[in-house]
Amino acid sequence: MVTRLDPKLFDATTDITWCAGCGDFAILKALKLALADLGIEPYQALVVSGIGCGSKLPDYMNVNAYLTNHGRPLPIATAAKLANPDLHVIVTNGDGDSYGIGGNHFVQSCRRNPNLTHIVENNQIYGLTKGQYSPTSDKGFVTTTSPDGAIELAFNPLSVALGAGATFISRAFAGEPKHMAGLIAQGIQHRGYALIDVLQPCVTFNRTNTYDWYRKRVYHLEDEDYDPSDRKAAWEKAHEWEERIPLGVLYRVEGAPAYEDQVKALEGGSPLSRLDDLVKDPRPQQYERLKERFT
Ligand code: SF4
Repeated sequence: MVTRLDPKLFDATTDITWCAGCGDFAILKALKLALADLGIEPYQALVVSGIGCGSKLPDYMNVNAYLTNHGRPLPIATAAKLANPDLHVIVTNGDGDSYGIGGNHFVQSCRRNPNLTHIVENNQIYGLTKGQYSPTSDKGFVTTTSPDGAIELAFNPLSVALGAGATFISRAFAGEPKHMAGLIAQGIQHRGYALIDVLQPCVTFNRTNTYDWYRKRVYHLEDEDYDPSDRKAAWEKAHEWEERIPLGVLYRVEGAPAYEDQVKALEGGSPLSRLDDLVKDPRPQQYERLKERFT
């Protein structure tokens, strides 16, 4: 039985520099809620991010954190999971970091199926660098650096994930943090790569895809007669956008082996987990024992 924890356990004292009203606040809240609901303690989780407004998130949590180079959190997170499979490894980064700079890592993660939870703060703009269009900006999206509108077609992360073989594909909305927390919890419990693409309003630079714009369009798949194991239905839902936007689990495959389950060298445990339980429990007293052992 899971003992629910207090989400305040994950509170950090760092000053938060996000703009007031930014959708990232809801993502931070939802991640804390999900971890607390699953009874995961701060030392049992690692949050890995890249560069961007949303990638500051691990700084604002009491949790193991690793801020990597731009676009690189997925391979680093995969390595961390292989080294210590007992950690719950979560990636939080933006649409530019995930689908642009780190786009190849995204595709490879979908097909590899490492046991990671990937939360994408998708605000359809580069917020940290003051509002250039991003891979997920709609065609024609006007910004200060694209006064004639974005030229490219928008990148569709859900259909790309489906095509690349992802085993858990979902979408949340920053206007509904409790619903999002439920999806994150399902992603953490899923064995394999779990994508939670979050519609995250950037209140400062994206004046099109606002909270109101989304509220008029979003609906819940769980309120419909929808089967997330139906790949063809998921493909259709992944392409709904302008009029209606689905939230929830679009696609889920149960029982597929995770990447680490298939690595022969990891049979019998990873190198770290073979040492002993010291390295799996980085609480202060364990840290002192580790120091004694290695110095
Ligand atoms: Fe959030 Fe946009 Fe402000 Fe960045 S610029 S903190 S994404 S509102």
